[in-house]
Amino acid sequence: MKILVINCGSSSLKYQLLEMPEGNVICKGTFERIGENSFVTHKINGEKYEIEHPCKDHGEALKFVFEQILNPNYPAISSLNEITAIGHRIGHGGELFDRSVVVDDDVLEKLEQVKDLAPLHNPPAIAGIRACQRILPNVKNICAFDTAFHTTIPENRKIYPLPYRYYEELKVRKYGFHGMSHKYVSERISQILDNNNLKIINCHLGQGASICAIKDGKSQDISMGSSPVAGIPMGTRAGDLDPSIVTFLMKKENLSADEMNQILNKESGVAGMSGVSNDFRDIEKASREGNERAKVTIDVFCYKVSQFIMDYIVALDGVDVITFTAGIGENQSGIRKQILNNLSFLGVKVDDTANATRGEEIKITTEDSKIQAWVIPTNEEYMIAQDTINLL
Ligand code: ADP
Repeated sequence: MKILVINCGSSSLKYQLLEMPEGNVICKGTFERIGENSFVTHKINGEKYEIEHPCKDHGEALKFVFEQILNPNYPAISSLNEITAIGHRIGHGGELFDRSVVVDDDVLEKLEQVKDLAPLHNPPAIAGIRACQRILPNVKNICAFDTAFHTTIPENRKIYPLPYRYYEELKVRKYGFHGMSHKYVSERISQILDNNNLKIINCHLGQGASICAIKDGKSQDISMGSSPVAGIPMGTRAGDLDPSIVTFLMKKENLSADEMNQILNKESGVAGMSGVSNDFRDIEKASREGNERAKVTIDVFCYKVSQFIMDYIVALDGVDVITFTAGIGENQSGIRKQILNNLSFLGVKVDDTANATRGEEIKITTEDSKIQAWVIPTNEEYMIAQDTINLL
């Protein structure tokens, strides 16, 4: 069964065609800079094709994606009829969606209602669904929400200490994100350890990063909040701050809300702190070469991650396993080691040989470590495809 997974960002569109239930990737790609000089990178059979193709919106980009999937020079399938269903990743489901759903008129209407909660990401996702409905009218579309996994977080961890009417009138509260990744990793580690009642703290450390507390397969807390800018510092997102800094900067530099948002989302985090790059590979290299700001940036990042792990040991009343995933979590052993070393007083001991491995499922703590830690490469597309076939 072939399932297409679509992930529309503000100016990008990622896609993957998977053979399910095995999860083998038939082809995949990324459209970038939609609306400007857009181009797509399409990958199939180990080959990579970069094609410039101007698109004014996500609908046009999707049309071109379908042409690439059928491209006779490197065909993934011979007819679009081979696609059984399409799974769409939706950034924000608000309070209206606590699980993946099959798209119908009612779902589209509800998606419009929560659009304002993620103004950059939800509208392109809705445009993507409508384009798929136009191009393949007989194929079912499914929405998988980044927020749905976190609807199990207890109420007392979701409410912010603000006037209550902001929650009642504007729905300002913690939602959490990266749900498909946290769900995937928690299911994998539960399978590996053959235990569905684990207390898991999952560290999704990529360009976007979040820490999630999971008990019995259910999210109990997450470092991201009302938006993905909260929590630990990320590639370019600030993470948690003293809120007065925001108003101070807006006043001092005469910044509009949009300009402040741009600074918090695109110019802060490890890129802003280090002045080197948003990529931890560059920051580690600079630190090794003696760049003091780069070293401090790594220290801040690791300290914040360890702090959230400690918070979530409280939230879970203990912990059985700490997991690392996404670009940094899967590949950067030095960062993992520094985070875990901050927890050595709890009896956490890193196995240096295992920790030197990259990008595979492996336990990275010693046999006598009081808490075990694992690397579990994430697979959000597989999770969405899995939800899609479950709904069919
Ligand atoms: P995204 O949130 O965009 O999906 P990723 O999970 O791909 O991000 O993480 C990207 C980050 O992971 C990079 O910025 C870099 O800091 C780090 N990284 C380290 N090694 C690798 C690697 N081999 N491949 C990709 N990213 C890596």
